[in-house]
Amino acid sequence: MTTIFIPGPPQIAVSVKKSARAKRLSLRVSSLDGRVTLSAPNRVSPRKIEAFVFEKEAWLRQNIIRVPAPIKVQIGSEIPVFGRRVFLAKSSTSRIWHQEDQLFVPENRSNPAARVLGYLKTLARDHLTQKSDFYAGQLGQDYCRLSLRDTRSRWGSCSQDRALMFSWRLVMAPQDVLDYVAAHEVAHLEQMNHSKQFWAVVERLYGDYRPARAWLRDKGAELHRYRFVD
Ligand SMILES: [Zn+2]
Repeated sequence: MTTIFIPGPPQIAVSVKKSARAKRLSLRVSSLDGRVTLSAPNRVSPRKIEAFVFEKEAWLRQNIIRVPAPIKVQIGSEIPVFGRRVFLAKSSTSRIWHQEDQLFVPENRSNPAARVLGYLKTLARDHLTQKSDFYAGQLGQDYCRLSLRDTRSRWGSCSQDRALMFSWRLVMAPQDVLDYVAAHEVAHLEQMNHSKQFWAVVERLYGDYRPARAWLRDKGAELHRYRFVD
């Protein structure tokens, strides 16, 4: 993959992906993090690709503005935890601890953002495991394992071999939203589809899931703004 840079400000980096399947040149701005990707058929020359990118500069500038800027996680910044604003303060000990709306993060000898990330993953795992166990119990179903990832295209999944996967970023969403995603994936243990019957199972487990779905659709991209590593 090559990258074309359009000089700024702001400079725009366009990742060029060549593929045999691409039928034409197409540009995409990720609504999650503003990354720009150009898909190009294999046969198109680098010169043509570059010309195309610069031709679309005005369009790119317009569309990139709509993507919210990334937020670097560090001492002094704020992150949502279960949907509530939490201020990252400096811990005087080597422990990370939480009190009301402050998370105390040790700074010495460790990367504070990595400590925050570890803390969030533990919270996410505890909560999602507890909820998945509860919903699976209600259904009389079992899952084989639960894993966390940093997925961009989906918040959770349930595989054919009954493994549940969740995005740890969900721990930043309101608790109802986490619970909904757990109920959604657990419901797939019974219905491996998105049929009417599937949604009836979700509703039986969780209740009215529409507000939580709407939250993910409207505000989910916000959770991808937080950068824990450089
Ligand atoms: Zn699903």
